[in-house]
Amino acid sequence: MRPTRRQFLTGVTSLAVSHALLHRSVFAQQPKRTRIVLLGTKGGPRVGEAGRSNPSTLLMINDVPYVVDCGYGVSKQLISAGVALNRVRYIFITHHHSDHNLELGPLFYNAWITGLPVRVDAYGPSGLTQMTRDFFNYLKFDIDTRIDDEGRADPRTLFTPHEFDKPGVVLTNDDVKVTNCLVRHPPIKQSYAYRFDAKERSVVISGDTAYAPELAEFAKGADVLVHEVMYLPGIEALLKRLPNAKRLREHLMAAHTLPEDVGKIAAAAGVKTLVLSHFVPGDDASITDEQWSAGARKYFKGKIVVGRDLMEI
Ligand SMILES: [Zn+2]
Ligand SMILES: [Zn+2]
Repeated sequence: MRPTRRQFLTGVTSLAVSHALLHRSVFAQQPKRTRIVLLGTKGGPRVGEAGRSNPSTLLMINDVPYVVDCGYGVSKQLISAGVALNRVRYIFITHHHSDHNLELGPLFYNAWITGLPVRVDAYGPSGLTQMTRDFFNYLKFDIDTRIDDEGRADPRTLFTPHEFDKPGVVLTNDDVKVTNCLVRHPPIKQSYAYRFDAKERSVVISGDTAYAPELAEFAKGADVLVHEVMYLPGIEALLKRLPNAKRLREHLMAAHTLPEDVGKIAAAAGVKTLVLSHFVPGDDASITDEQWSAGARKYFKGKIVVGRDLMEI
């Protein structure tokens, strides 16, 4: 017997309700997934008029923000990604080039002035502690004034730098284990990649590096590898306009990775998804996604994502 329209609609409605309940209970039981948001995808310290922001990557693990690198604009980009600054809990610096640390102090300051609910722990290579001290000295007058005048907590007691000078475990908590790996970024000796092993997802962020087979070993079996990339024809076009072209070309070739080599690293690591980020040059809008990814695709058969600011993976 065919159901009446009323019976049919009642059936559809109850099905929808039970589906919604099921959906909700499944999500309530599951740990919150690990989200990756690219905050800034342009390599280098130059602040562009438009387009990509300077380097930073956000991981949301069990709803807690982990910020990797603090290029200029990271505070603004976090807000654009929907993350209130006073939620920032962990910061990681890959190395001490300014496109990775320029806004470390200011990000913490901006979080403090928003009203810090908890302390912030920052991790990075040697030099981090001195840099933190120098930053607080730079703003001593303002900070002391606001503590006296506005009754704020002393930010120097809320921010803890943890520096390291070798690979190993950087942080372990209930949600994630973070390890680091020394990569190749001359003339900087202390340049690191980070690996985040969360409950249901492993993510590796290369930092700045030339082709480094040890990074493939470090990233073995990860779900996602976020790797820096440099496009040679784009570099040549850029260098034509600069007086320090020769030195800059030498630095770039020794310190960064071409798309083909990024593909080799991703293939050797056996990751599921390769995300290209830290684009050099990052300001040349004429370089297409296909141009950025073609070299990598020759060697890597998994999914390739050409990153953009505020893209979520
Ligand atoms: Zn960089
Ligand atoms: Zn660098």
